[in-house]
Amino acid sequence: MSRHAPFGIVAQSRFDGERFHDQPATLLIEEGRVADLALGDQAVDLAARGLVVERAPFLMPGLVEAHAHLFLHGAELDGKIRAAHQKAPVEDLLGAAKGHAQATLKAGITLVRDAGDKFGVNDAMRDLARHPASGYPAIRSPGLGLKRPNRYGAFMARDVETDEAIEPMVAEIAKTADDIKVILTGIIDFAKGAVTDLPQFDAPAATRIAQAARAAGKPTFAHCSGEKGLRVACEAGFDSIEHGFFMNRESLTRMADKGIAWVPTFSPVHFQWARPEVVGWPEETVAHLRRILDGHTQMVGEAAKLGVALVAGSDAGSQGVPHGQALIDELFHFLEAGLGLAAVLASATAVPRRLWKVAPAGPVKGGRFDAVALAQSPTHDARALRQPLAVWREGVRG
Ligand SMILES: [Zn+2]
Repeated sequence: MSRHAPFGIVAQSRFDGERFHDQPATLLIEEGRVADLALGDQAVDLAARGLVVERAPFLMPGLVEAHAHLFLHGAELDGKIRAAHQKAPVEDLLGAAKGHAQATLKAGITLVRDAGDKFGVNDAMRDLARHPASGYPAIRSPGLGLKRPNRYGAFMARDVETDEAIEPMVAEIAKTADDIKVILTGIIDFAKGAVTDLPQFDAPAATRIAQAARAAGKPTFAHCSGEKGLRVACEAGFDSIEHGFFMNRESLTRMADKGIAWVPTFSPVHFQWARPEVVGWPEETVAHLRRILDGHTQMVGEAAKLGVALVAGSDAGSQGVPHGQALIDELFHFLEAGLGLAAVLASATAVPRRLWKVAPAGPVKGGRFDAVALAQSPTHDARALRQPLAVWREGVRG
């Protein structure tokens, strides 16, 4: 059954998920896929066949946001309102998530990995977003993450009381989850400029989680910052380390060896540094934040050199981290870390799709036509990423 009529696109230049191509190409889109891709401007041939032909100065795969909390208001800065939001009726949270998902698609993002919510809004959104014409990006959901009792992460995870509970709980979550989220550590104590508490899971428990998820065929992603947590995450062999503040070379080397990806989520910490008056951070804390960001930038550059798979994710929904826009901010943070533009764009296109075993997308022959058109190539000006001209999800214009 056809979702929509076939159409053609002539792109002046394009990015295929890994590299740039500077010559024009003509694409035939059928059934949401790139049925044909030929070099040169074949618009006349397509028009002769009665097809609508669009033109794009630049075409690239739809972006992937690897870390967002769809139910949380990233643009809401007021701490009291943010806290009250989490006590709102689930219908309100779902309503908020719908708006966030729409904003996400408008920013050129066609696939989002939610990073956990205890209300199941992420699962509900995944269902609402199944159809490419839903107006939402495709959504991966972990449902609820795993945490230890009385530790950080209550808004997104359930408690693992004993190590013996790990396997049955992972098996239960895996029935509906696309990914298994683990809250391995607490968050950064900004005032102290450090992660001060011990990891929630020790290496044997974390390894049991990673193995149980692998047995269920689900990738793992671990909320983790601080040296102690990073050591446990590397030991356990989680598929991805989220945040990873206070990264060090030893962990990066192990990540490269074991194929552990890194989603460095600059945005939430960057916001605290850029807008210290919102929380009321004193000068000393602002200095900590700057030091943490500088170290992070340096380590992301190091990770790229060592061959660690870097994946862009913003932690949208965190204070001052708006859905959609923040992923683009994250790409600029990667540029500041010294990554080349192709590597930066790959971190939000081909790399996560490969790691998550999702079908290739974008202006590639046979690919799913999840794509973004820009007014000019980002090789001329990366700011073109901030204002996509058009977004398609499986050939459906968003
Ligand atoms: Zn998060």
